[in-house]
Amino acid sequence: MVRHGGGRGWRGRVLAATLGVAVLATTASVWTAQAHPGRQVHAEPTARPSSTAAGAPGAAPAAVPRSIVHASDRGARGVNITIDDGPDPVWTPQVLQVLRDNGVKATFCMVGPQAQAHPDLVKAVVADGHRLCDHSVAHDTGMDHKAESYQRQQILDAEQMIIEASGGVRPVYYRAPGGAFTPYSREVAASHGMRPLGWNVDSKDFERPGTAAIVATVKQEVANGPTILFHDAGGDRSQTVEALRQVLPWLKQQGYTFGFPVVR
Ligand SMILES: [Zn+2]
Repeated sequence: MVRHGGGRGWRGRVLAATLGVAVLATTASVWTAQAHPGRQVHAEPTARPSSTAAGAPGAAPAAVPRSIVHASDRGARGVNITIDDGPDPVWTPQVLQVLRDNGVKATFCMVGPQAQAHPDLVKAVVADGHRLCDHSVAHDTGMDHKAESYQRQQILDAEQMIIEASGGVRPVYYRAPGGAFTPYSREVAASHGMRPLGWNVDSKDFERPGTAAIVATVKQEVANGPTILFHDAGGDRSQTVEALRQVLPWLKQQGYTFGFPVVR
C-alpha cells in the first residue's frame, strides 16, 4: 500500500493541540468483561445486543467486524467510491457536485480537524446521502509504529470531531492514514462501530499525474476490486474532480453500480 504525503505540513500543525486526550474513559469498558473471571463468557450467537439500531442519537454504537473490508454492498458489480483527507472548502463542494450529477453515493474519509473546521461541508456530505469515515486526527502514516494510547487518541478524537461537525451522524468506517492499521487500531475502531476500510484501487490522484492518467489507472485496475481511492484535499484536486467527471459515467457504462463498503 502506498503511504503518500509523509511530509505534508498542515498535518503536523493540528497534532499538538489534540495529543493526550480521552484515553481513560473508553479503556474502562473494554476491560469490564475480564473483571469477572468466574462468569460464563461463551459466545451466544442467538443473543444479539439490543443496541444495534444504527444512528440512533446518543446510542452506543454496536461493534462491527475488525477485519479490513473491501467488498461492496452492491455485490459483484458494485464499486465503492471513497474520497479521502477532506473536507476542503475548495474541492469538497466540487466533488459533491460531480457525484450529484452522476447520482453516485460515496464514502468520505475525513481528517478530524478538517471536519471540525468545516462543519457545513460535513453536513453537506451527509445531506447528499454519502457516508462518513474516520481518517484520524493528524494523518500520521507512521501511527502503526506508535503507542496504543496514541493510536486510540487519533481514532477516537477524530470520531468525536466528525460526530460534532455532522450534528450527530457517526462515521461507520475507519481508514488508517496510508493504510497504517494495527490489530489494536482495528479493534478500537470496530468496537466503536467503525469498520476498518481498505482500498483496492489507488487512483494515484494525490500525485497529480494528470486527469488522463488518473482515469486510465481506474479503468485498468477496477478489476482488482471494488473500493477506489480518491482525495478531496491536501492540494490542488482539480485533476481529481475532472477524473471523476469522466470515469463515473464510464463505470456506469461498464455495468458497475455504486455502493458502500460492507459494514457487517
Ligand atoms: Zn489519507
